[in-house]
Amino acid sequence: MRCPRCRNEDRRYFHQDYKGFYCRKCIRFGKIYVHETLQQKPLYKPKIQTQMHLDYELTSVQQDAIAKVELLYEHHNKVLVYAACGAGKTEITLVQIQQHLAAGKKVGYAIARRQVVIEIAKRLSEAFPNIHVVKVCGGYTNVVDGDLIVCTTHQLYRYHKCFDLLILDEMDAFPFANNDVLQQLAYNACCGKLLLLSATPESSHFQEVKDGYMGQVSVFERPHKQPLVVPKVYRLPFAMQMVVSLLLVLFKKGKWIVFMPKITQVERMEKLCKHICRCRSISSKTKQKDELMESFNRGDFNLVFATTILERGITIKGVNVAIVSGEHKVYTKASLIQMVGRVGRKFDAPTGFAYIFCKEKTKEIVACQKEIIMMNRKAKIV
Ligand SMILES: [Zn+2]
Repeated sequence: MRCPRCRNEDRRYFHQDYKGFYCRKCIRFGKIYVHETLQQKPLYKPKIQTQMHLDYELTSVQQDAIAKVELLYEHHNKVLVYAACGAGKTEITLVQIQQHLAAGKKVGYAIARRQVVIEIAKRLSEAFPNIHVVKVCGGYTNVVDGDLIVCTTHQLYRYHKCFDLLILDEMDAFPFANNDVLQQLAYNACCGKLLLLSATPESSHFQEVKDGYMGQVSVFERPHKQPLVVPKVYRLPFAMQMVVSLLLVLFKKGKWIVFMPKITQVERMEKLCKHICRCRSISSKTKQKDELMESFNRGDFNLVFATTILERGITIKGVNVAIVSGEHKVYTKASLIQMVGRVGRKFDAPTGFAYIFCKEKTKEIVACQKEIIMMNRKAKIV
């Protein structure tokens, strides 16, 4: 017995009612019976001629990467773009999007986190101002078809065999990583080429490349050609970590994100600090996250206490980062690289500060520093 949607074969997940057996592993996406066949969703696929608009020119490294992706598609259906944070991996997808739209093919851009869907949809709308970019995620599910669909990986259940090009961004991020239901939904949604993007791919992805199942393009140079900021690591007791973080925020100019592992911690810090400086907190519990981030971007306040909800996909001009309790188990090498990668993403603010405060220097912290140094070194030769 096999689920037609998530491909589960584990009998523990199959339940029976008067119509037959159904799968409980993927039931959050609707009840599906084992005897059912998923139908391809009919989507409108016009040929769309569009020209991308960018306020800046693509660098030679990005152009080389674009050409290499095209070349790899001659022999692979799957290509991995391994790009440093802020190296412009979204830009590398633009030519592929443009070409597929012109050929009347459907393009989907899927990301694990809702917050990043909103940011990417905005960037793609700016790059292709004359097409209808539709975002599909929690709070935006009334319109589910458009010229270009940007959605959370959860929403891919709507698009069975729909996308001729499916771009999977940050496929190593929670909750997509290690979630076989979401991964199967992604494979189901794609009926053509897959383009995987990540700054921190997992070893299984590199293995696929090694085994010849996937092509790989690496881009480690940021467009402004400044190196990635290597975080400074300090071992301190927890209370001192907080004091030093606050002193940094008060005495060094610019915006700051102070990452903390727990929701209760960020909420408590907001309450304590709002008497001495303009600050807010953000976590998965926060309502009106989009408005809060817009307000931070505008500079209404300079300090945000955040959980890992802000670790990826967020671009804030001139932001600096301090990570408290860096030894905590929620901080993997990948999440540390991503948090530090928020710094120096803009042409007019290409650098900044990144600190990791910890009680002990874990192997994840050491690996994060090593990998950033490796990317900076390779940026010169790739
Ligand atoms: Zn299932």
